[in-house]
Amino acid sequence: MSGGTPRARPFAEAAREALQDGQLRRNLAKATGAIREKRAKAAGELSDWEALREAGRAIKTHTLAHLDHYLMQLEQNVVARGGEVHWARDAAEANAIVQELVARSGAHEVVKVKSLTTDEIGLNDALAAVGVRAVETDLAELIVQLAHEPSSHILVPAIHKNRAEIRELFLEAMGLEPAELSDEPAALAAAARRFLREKFLTATVGISGANFAVADTGTVCVVESEGNGRMCTTLPDTLITVMGIEKLVPDWSAMEVFLQLLPRSSTAERMNPYTSFWSGVRAGDGPQAFHLILLDNGRSDVLASEDRRQTLHCIRCSACLNVCPVYARVGGHAYGSHYPGPIGAILSPQLLGTPEADTLPFASTLCGACYEVCPVMIDIPSVLLDLRFGAVERKRERRGRLAALDAEDGAMRLAAAVFADPRRYQQLQRWARRIQRPFVRDGHVSWLPGYLGGWTMTRDLPAVPERTFREWWQERSGDGEVLS
Ligand code: SF4
Repeated sequence: MSGGTPRARPFAEAAREALQDGQLRRNLAKATGAIREKRAKAAGELSDWEALREAGRAIKTHTLAHLDHYLMQLEQNVVARGGEVHWARDAAEANAIVQELVARSGAHEVVKVKSLTTDEIGLNDALAAVGVRAVETDLAELIVQLAHEPSSHILVPAIHKNRAEIRELFLEAMGLEPAELSDEPAALAAAARRFLREKFLTATVGISGANFAVADTGTVCVVESEGNGRMCTTLPDTLITVMGIEKLVPDWSAMEVFLQLLPRSSTAERMNPYTSFWSGVRAGDGPQAFHLILLDNGRSDVLASEDRRQTLHCIRCSACLNVCPVYARVGGHAYGSHYPGPIGAILSPQLLGTPEADTLPFASTLCGACYEVCPVMIDIPSVLLDLRFGAVERKRERRGRLAALDAEDGAMRLAAAVFADPRRYQQLQRWARRIQRPFVRDGHVSWLPGYLGGWTMTRDLPAVPERTFREWWQERSGDGEVLS
């Protein structure tokens, strides 16, 4: 991660801990609430917003269906313009390529921008292992790096920190006296600028991620809000870009669609402030060596699944995070992965395949808000359900014959038997009404003992009413049997 590696834990355990942090919840509520409103307004300004979303989805579907063709085309065009293309099957291969390229340049410090994909492969740690310091240049990425913390949001990695916390961090990390720095955003930004300016002017290697690459011309694109990306991609002698293979678009007409969808969905801006494009190298202008590393790292497996392939449509706008009721309460660290929120809940299990990541598809209420805002119309709830099914199957396989003893399995089988038979259902209602009495407060059950406490730990159950509708109807109509 930019500033640390997320701790892999089952989601429920990490979320329980995060929910204890009142400051974190206040910071998140304020930040996500503000971005959410602004995004809705920015999207609402365009009368053809839904048509743009459809176009975004169609372009991504087409590109992924012909990914082999477009990747080869991209490679040809990058090479034709003086760049070099490297293919990395996984994180280890990608890191080894970057280590080798940096060693060749003789640099001991590199500047970085758009670090999400490099966070995914743990590049900063890999560089540190060979004595190279990676300096994050995005303000929020710098904050989490100085705090030695993982990022907690795709777009706003330091969303969990407020101004006062950032000031404290800068005072310590930059060796400033308290009188030298206020917690005004402009003062904090100026301090970061002074700190970074020297890095930009001395770095000989820049490392970037990529938002898009245009296969037709071999052009790579980074969009950002601070101008740091442009410095990173133009000032050093050598530029290394690590890009997931799904970031490809066929041509410039596709870019027209995404450059409208992305800024409104991410920062709620009509147009992105800094959009940098580069194609290979040009003598006397910008980096004189350009290396594009095309990273698979599990993406081919995602592509192989027809139901889940749409996960790769993601343009990392973060709109789904800002509307997610789960993310807004627990924040990004609880997801234990570089990709938090709804997109993380479907992407991380597919890329990581660990038991901890298998718990992420359950980090959702399935309310569908993520699907409604997604600019490329990824049906996240459907993918979540598909992944849940797979996770349960794998859990059963791991437990083998002991599956019959699993309490959740047992509860679900019992529920299926009860819901399948109206008589059993009504009988259960009568029992529940009697059993629940010691636990009912103001019409709700807020605490249950033992295993059942898992339900009431984070939610109240409405109590079974003293009289159900059917009983009321039966009394009113005087009918004897009213069962189904
Ligand atoms: S899944 Fe959709 S809404 Fe979420 S980050 Fe990706 S593109 Fe944006």
